[in-house]
Amino acid sequence: MYPEIKRRKTKEIFVGSVGIGGGNPIRVQSMTNTDTRDIKATLDQIFRLKSAGCEIVRVAIPDERAVSALREIVKESPIPVIADLHFDTSLGEKAVSADVSGIRINPGTFRNKKRLDSLIRACKERGVCIRIGINAGSLESALLKRYGHPTPEAMVESAKNWLEYIVSKHDYYNLKVSLKSSNWWQTVRAYELFSEALDFPLHIGVTEAGGLIPGTIKNTMAVSYLLLKGIGDTVRISLTADPVEEVYVAYEILRNLGLRSLYPDIIACPTCGRCEIDLIRLYEEVSAYAKKLRANLKLAVMGCVVNGPGEAREADLGIAGGKGVGIIFREGKIIQKVKEEELLKAFFEEIEKFLKEHPERINS
Ligand code: SF4
Repeated sequence: MYPEIKRRKTKEIFVGSVGIGGGNPIRVQSMTNTDTRDIKATLDQIFRLKSAGCEIVRVAIPDERAVSALREIVKESPIPVIADLHFDTSLGEKAVSADVSGIRINPGTFRNKKRLDSLIRACKERGVCIRIGINAGSLESALLKRYGHPTPEAMVESAKNWLEYIVSKHDYYNLKVSLKSSNWWQTVRAYELFSEALDFPLHIGVTEAGGLIPGTIKNTMAVSYLLLKGIGDTVRISLTADPVEEVYVAYEILRNLGLRSLYPDIIACPTCGRCEIDLIRLYEEVSAYAKKLRANLKLAVMGCVVNGPGEAREADLGIAGGKGVGIIFREGKIIQKVKEEELLKAFFEEIEKFLKEHPERINS
């Protein structure tokens, strides 16, 4: 059972071949944390991100050497690449020449509008998407002075000013917006205010959210709140962690809202004194296996037969532990009882068999 969500209609834009906004699915993106100058390490990470389901990747362009590496990264990347720029518009023009699909600019860090005009013209010539990435931590000084703090109103005003400038001066619309703060509620308010006024697609997420657990919680609060209100077209979950985790967290949120599903859903008991099997290890193994599956499946991993069969009945396939043994369920029926050491192998074989019989459950 899922909440009813009416997605807000936004303009359709493109980052390379990936459509964002309009009727497109909510996109999942991330950012590499390798040294962009290290082409191999950056490409390896992009391939790992793509395998996890990442659809668009952003790379930092801090200097000339990073922008020189970009052409090869873009050429070899299996997903569209966005260049992340601050302070220096000339690096942006070089990134556009290196065939990136998008650039992210933070207007608060660009002072020279003339040079920004030249970058916008270069993007328009090649259809390169521009994200206006407003960050509460680097808002323009004039706005800060007027509002006193980087309030949601100040962030929205900054985004509106820049959008209006690009649209009226350059007649360019392949644009999206982000309004990020490290405070989840401030982030939410900024996106809500913006979406009441304009229909440009929104890239949502909380910035500088912290490590895997705190960062997941902050992002889940903001992203779920916004998505439940129909706001948000592409998601990045910022985490101080392996960026692949950002992709998994994004899909967990989307799946729990009934918006997008890529991996199996796993029901697992927390274990208790009744459990006589190494359930945490079993869960970790099933979870690692499920991340490679890309299928609409519900799996159950239960410690004993008290709640095990009941929960497993709701799942397509499940296991329930006993003393040194495990029971495998399929669609509510016990199909096997196997020794603990053979349980995973037998369970994975049953999953494969199930998917052969139900190819419609496999996500492309
Ligand atoms: S399923 Fe069994 S082992 Fe797991 S929490 Fe419930 S009673 Fe405990």
